[in-house]
Parts: sequence; structure tokens; C-alpha cells
Amino acid sequence: MHEIGIVRQLLRTVTDFAAEHGVSRICEVVVDCGELSLVIPDYLRELYPVVVKGSILENAGLTIHMVPGLAECEDCDEIFNVIEHKGYCPNCGSFNKTVLSGKDFTIREILVPEEPE
Ligand SMILES: [Zn+2]
Repeated sequence: MHEIGIVRQLLRTVTDFAAEHGVSRICEVVVDCGELSLVIPDYLRELYPVVVKGSILENAGLTIHMVPGLAECEDCDEIFNVIEHKGYCPNCGSFNKTVLSGKDFTIREILVPEEPE
């Protein structure tokens, strides 16, 4: 289970971001979780409150966007969902493919509360 490392990395990135921008509060972190990244969203949700306890993210929400794992067939150029079709092209049955999306886990947005003027 490498999710704990991912949450720690997330916290580090957000802490650096906050220090750089002089931000003292964060309301929400939005992440893109690729279907093929092997990151399990349920584990993230479970670990997140534990890892961020006492940090700038303690009261910040975590929103996880799933990014579908799409691939292009190298034999017939069909674009298909890798998980849905278990890795095989639904058009020609080939296993040769180039993965186009869904391999990464990235931070999409860090939402900061609007400061009253
Ligand atoms: Zn194909």
C-alpha cells in the first residue's frame, strides 16, 4: 500500500505551496486520480485525515476526480477504456496499445479561502 506515501507527498506539496504564497488556510484540495495509477481512492480518503492531522490541511476537504484509463490500439487505432475491456482492444482484440490517460496521480487544484479585504 503506497497510498500513505502519496498522501504525505500531497501534504508536502500543499505545505510548500502555502509557504510560497503566504497562505495560512486551505479549504480544499482537488486531485486527479488515474484509473490506471494503482492508487485506491478509498485508501486515500481513509488515510488523508490521519496524515494531515495537525497540519495546514487538517480542516481542508479532499476531492478525488477519477480520470479514465484510455488507450489507443496500435493495430486499428481504436480508442478504448483499458479497465472496461481488460486491456484488449474491443474492435480487433489486440493487446498492443498506447495508454493515453489515467496513469497519473496529480494535484489539480488547491483552493484557498477568499480573504476579506
Ligand atoms: Zn484494435
